[in-house]
Parts: sequence; C-alpha cells; structure tokens
Amino acid sequence: MKFKAVTILTLVILALLTLFSFYYEIERYWYIILILAWLILISVGSFLIGLNFHLKAFSFKPKSTLKKVAITFDDGPHPKHTLKVLEVLKKHGAKATFFCIGEKIEKYPHILKSISIEGHSIGNHSYSHSNFIDFNLTTKWISEIEKTDELIQATIGKTPKLFRPPYGVTTPHLAKALKLTGHLVVGWNRRTLDTIIKNRNTILNRLKIKLKPGDIILLHDTQEQSLHILEHLLLYLKQQNFEAVTIEELYNEH
Ligand SMILES: [Zn+2]
Repeated sequence: MKFKAVTILTLVILALLTLFSFYYEIERYWYIILILAWLILISVGSFLIGLNFHLKAFSFKPKSTLKKVAITFDDGPHPKHTLKVLEVLKKHGAKATFFCIGEKIEKYPHILKSISIEGHSIGNHSYSHSNFIDFNLTTKWISEIEKTDELIQATIGKTPKLFRPPYGVTTPHLAKALKLTGHLVVGWNRRTLDTIIKNRNTILNRLKIKLKPGDIILLHDTQEQSLHILEHLLLYLKQQNFEAVTIEELYNEH
C-alpha cells in the first residue's frame, strides 16, 4: 500500500544521500529532515483511515447515484443507550451498522441480539478497544478480532464480515492481521466528533453541509446526545429524500 511506497522512497533518498556524501559534503540536517518527513507521513497516514495508507478501507461509496447514506454506531452495545437508538431507527424506518466491542458483547449479549433482530448490520470493533491497541503486533490483533467474531457468532449465529479499527487508526500489523482474517474494513467520511463536541446543533450543522449520496456517518451509541443527533439527522434525511441504510446495502446498490 502507500505505506510501502513512502518507506521505499525514503530509503532510496537515504541511500542516494549516503552515496553523495562520498563526493560532496552533505549537512546532517538533510538526514533529519528526511526522517522527520517520513515520520509525519506515517503518522498522518495511520490516523486518517480515508487515505487507505496501510489498507483499503470503505470510507464512502464513490459515484453513488441513489440518495442513500450509511449511519454507523461505534463502541456499543451500551446498556442504556443502544436500545433507545434502536427505537429511534425503527420509528423512522432506518437501518444502520453497529461496530461492537467484544468486551461489551460479553456483558450485554441481549442488546446485540436486539440489534440483529431489528435487521441492522453488525461489525467487529476489536475485543478490548484498549488505548494502547495500536501497539499490538499481528498475533495480538488476530486474537482481538477472532475473539469478537466468536462472541458475535455465538450470540446471533452469524460471523461478521466487517471490521472497523478502533479510533480509525491503522498500522502495518493490523493490515497483516486483516489480510489473514479476511474482514472488509469500514472507515467513514463524515466524522461527527459526537464524543468531543457537546453542542448538538454544531454537530448537526456540520453533518448537513455537503451531505451527499454514498456518505458514511460515524456516531457513537454510548451517550445520551447521540440519540438527539440521530433523531434530527433522520428527520433531515427524510426532508432531503435520503434513505439511511446498512453498509452492505450502500455498496450493493444498482
Ligand atoms: Zn471505537
């Protein structure tokens, strides 16, 4: 992927600099600039899933002609909010995709079942969602992903095909793990920052700007305010003749 190209290019420039240094005087800062540029590119590429830096992620449906968007919820199931989110979705006849954490599925399997019964899509969002998860090596990533797959399979009788990386961060080790587990990776192109911004109107206004067919919206079913945002968002979608569908339906449109 792009990670390999950037790294190979950096190594080629490094080799050329070293070669030139036999004939000309090369200041040390050129080496420092090169390493810093590499580090910055790697960091940006790892944090922005839409760049497809380490792996190919589905972050929006390009050239979408039908007025469909996919609303996605991360970090559940939540004992207080997920069932309310399901009620709001049902009221508006909308479908969504829930990227669930294994540890929470263990605690609230009945809520996962409800998500599935309501006809929504369920994806894998790691087992622990730990703050240090991005330092995982490939084997640790595989165990995180497989453990959650097994929990989902045991609860709803289906193994998820979709995976969303915690925090949307990707690494070479995660890319290797996903090649082996075979999951399709889902990102987003409309980040609401609903866990950071506390003003609902700001979030809704940001969402309404340039909303287009094929967009993938990121929300979290772990907090009260997401319910209000969802309610208003669904009303707005209806006004604009948009339909909220699962990730699978967004990509399967004809
Ligand atoms: Zn998450």
